[in-house]
Amino acid sequence: MQDIWVVIGATVLLGLLRVWINPVRKKQLQTRHVATGILKQLTPAYRKELEEHFPYFQKLDPQNRRVFAARVQAFIHSKEFIPRGYTHVNDRMKALIAAAAVQLTFGFRHLNFSHFRRILVYPDNYYSQITRRYHQGEVNKKGIIVLSWRNFVRGYADENDGRNLGLHEMAHALRLENAIANEEFDFIDPAVLRQFDELAMQEMERIHSGENFFRLYAATNLQEFFAVAVENFFERPHAFFDYNPELYKCMVRKLKQDPRQWLRIDPIPV
Ligand SMILES: [Zn+2]
Repeated sequence: MQDIWVVIGATVLLGLLRVWINPVRKKQLQTRHVATGILKQLTPAYRKELEEHFPYFQKLDPQNRRVFAARVQAFIHSKEFIPRGYTHVNDRMKALIAAAAVQLTFGFRHLNFSHFRRILVYPDNYYSQITRRYHQGEVNKKGIIVLSWRNFVRGYADENDGRNLGLHEMAHALRLENAIANEEFDFIDPAVLRQFDELAMQEMERIHSGENFFRLYAATNLQEFFAVAVENFFERPHAFFDYNPELYKCMVRKLKQDPRQWLRIDPIPV
């Protein structure tokens, strides 16, 4: 009789352990699948958004489109999208926000902004109680990316004006991701980072003395300079190269891609 109670006790204990272990195991598997790119199938609703509304994706060849789509799916799968002033974050918002992150990091194989787990989406400029100002977007060291949808859309509406909120905020996230110790830590060559900062300081002085290729806001500090440089790198690559080839080539080495070639207009080897 006692043996029966031992068996029953052991069975209940095993069941409880399974309930406790399963979510942990499931999360580990999901993380590994994202990291190894096993989640390859992009949901058709997201694919439609990329095909219709994302110029960078439209210009890629079929092989790169497959890789890009898998990266977008992995990004969406691993983030929590939180609506602010909306009932939910819709498919278009998720697909295009993920695509902005993948566009910036497409030169790296598996980069997925693992430090950033939550993405907040506001309809428009939002008021910050901390800074007591209205913001279009921000990136929080605690792992939150905040975007205002109207400004995000406006950034991609004119793809040649050198202004793009999505890329700007993702650039801040990239710099932080590179600096915060985790599995995606230190992926940018430190020598390239040093060279970029030196060239950026020179360029910030030029902005202060009236040169206006980069808008004045870029001279705020090195973080803002990089974010504005990223906007121009993707939206005005040829003009950027003509203006300052050394800085442009440094961006190519930093991000491991050259938008002049993606755009397939008169590619010039770096
Ligand atoms: Zn900024």
